Amino acid sequence: MNNPKVIAVDFDGTLCENQWPRIGHENRQIINLLVRHQVNGGKVILWTCREGELLDEAVLWCLNRGLRFDAINDNLPENIARYGNNCRKVWADEYWDDKSVIISAGKRPGLLRKDDAGGYRAMNWSRETLTIVKKPLLARLKRWLKP
Ligand SMILES: [Mg+2]
Repeated sequence: MNNPKVIAVDFDGTLCENQWPRIGHENRQIINLLVRHQVNGGKVILWTCREGELLDEAVLWCLNRGLRFDAINDNLPENIARYGNNCRKVWADEYWDDKSVIISAGKRPGLLRKDDAGGYRAMNWSRETLTIVKKPLLARLKRWLKP
C-alpha cells in the first residue's frame, strides 16, 4: 500500500468509555476495527488530550489489547518527511472521536443545524438539506472499513 489510509483515533469516549482520568470500559469493537485496519496495511495515530503518566497508561492499556499505534499525538514520520514539516494538527484521512460530527456536505462547507430528532443536518449554502450527520459512532465507522 503506497499511501495507506491514516486514522487518528481519540481515547476517552472512543477506545473506552469516558471516565477520565480513569480508563473506562473498553470499546472492543472499535479496537478490533483498528487492529484489522493495521493488519490490512493502514496506519493508526492515537489522538488524545492525555499527557504524561495518563498518556502512558492509555498507550499501555491499548498495547495490552493488541493495538500498537503508528504515532502518538504526532504525525506519521513518513508524512513529516514527505511534507517537510510537522504541523500541530495531526493529519489523517479520518478522525474517530466521540465528539465528532461528520460534515458530508460535499464540495462546499455547510452549516450544521439541530433537527427535531436530536441529530444534526448539514445544510449547504442554498439551504438544501444534505445529510443527517449524527448517527451511532460504530455504525458510522463500519461503512468506511472493508470487511
Ligand atoms: Mg473523547
